[in-house]
Formats: sequence, structure tokens, C-alpha cells
Amino acid sequence: MKFYANFKMNHTRDSTSKYIELLNKELKDTNSGDIFVFPPATALQKGEDKVVIGAQNGYFGKNGAFTGEIGLEQLKEFNIDTILIGHSERREIFGESQEFVAKKFDYYKKENFNIIYCIGEPLEVREQGVEALFEYLYSQFEGIDTTYKNLTVAYEPIWAIGTGVSATTADIELVHNRLKERFNVELLYGGSVKIDTIEDIAKIDSVDGVLVGSASLKADEFAKLIKKGLGA
Ligand code: PEP
Repeated sequence: MKFYANFKMNHTRDSTSKYIELLNKELKDTNSGDIFVFPPATALQKGEDKVVIGAQNGYFGKNGAFTGEIGLEQLKEFNIDTILIGHSERREIFGESQEFVAKKFDYYKKENFNIIYCIGEPLEVREQGVEALFEYLYSQFEGIDTTYKNLTVAYEPIWAIGTGVSATTADIELVHNRLKERFNVELLYGGSVKIDTIEDIAKIDSVDGVLVGSASLKADEFAKLIKKGLGA
């Protein structure tokens, strides 16, 4: 089971360092598998012990005239080789189109990054039924090489992100089982994963890990969630 913490626009460089230290301390006696933390760009740093650091975002280029962005050169400075691409907040708030997302994917694929590729539907699509749901989800794979060896897909229904309402285990199974069948990739679930839901989610065969936002922000609580998810 893998655990991914997405800090979004939370934490500073200083608090991220303290977080990593505390998380490692809390998990030192646990066989805790793979743990990834995605801090904001200003807090990128080299990982330590059990924690791998990844980037929440990156432009498709090494460097250049792209105000406000960071690219390969900045990520390499911290030995970052894991990146989130296609998060719904990037798609919805920052207007990243499927074509744009696919360009990022292609670039970081050529650089051999571990790519956590996020997909997920809004509530109005979910309400239209299963056929519409899969049509929407499959459209988010346009231009994406699903055979890429370092690809992990994160299924994150938009209506479950940051709302406190996680998808049910039946909802998750429905989507994950079909995605596994079609693409045979590693699959994460994300969307209001919490200490009280992690056990049931971790038991689902087609869930290989979780991407966690709000419930990952405090190191001691994230450590508890990890331990519960591992049944430790
Ligand atoms: C996310 O945005 O990736 C996420 C899963 O957030 P939350 O856990 O807060 O729903």
C-alpha cells in the first residue's frame, strides 16, 4: 500500500522539514511501504528515510521564459523524479486542457519521471450514470501513454475532493476494477480519505494506494492514517 500526501498551497519550507522529520519518527518502527509528500514548490527538498518528495506541478521544459512556473532544472536541483499531473484543481481552477496536460505528461515521461496522473469526474457527470462516467474518465486519457512503465493513475472524483465526503467503497470498486481491467496500471484513490475511512478503502483489491489532501497536513495524523491503512 502506498501513501501520498498532497499539501497543495499549505506548509512552508520550514514546516515541511519539520513535518518530514516527525513523520519519519512516527513511522520508524513500521514497515511502512512507500510514502510520498508533495509540498509546495518553495518547500521542495531532498527526501529522507521513508519519505520521497514529489512535485505538485512542473512545466514542460528545462527552463525558459515561463513566468510563475518551475521546470526540469528546478526539480532536478532537489533530485525530484516524481510529479503529479492532471490534478482536478489544475484542470478546473487553472484551466489546464487535456492537450496541455498531455504535453506535460509526454515531457516528464521522456525524462523518466514517476508520474501520478490524476483523473476524476464532476458531480454532474456522476449523476448522468455509469456510461457517462466512463466516457468522461476515458476522455482524460487522450494523449496519455497508459503503457508508460512509471505511471500511476489516481482516481479522484471531484465531488469527493476536500468535501469531507469520500466515495463509497462500492463507488471506488466500480471505477478501479474497470480501470485495472482496461489499463492494468497502479491505481490510487483520492478524495476525502480520512483516518476513519482508510481501513475499508485499503481493503479494496484494486486500490494500490491513496492520495490524501486535508488528512495529510499534520504529520502525526498522517502517520496514524498510514498505520491504520497498513493494519499496523
Ligand atoms: C486531493 O486534492 O488530491 C485530495 C485527495 O484532497 P482531500 O483528501 O482533501 O479530498
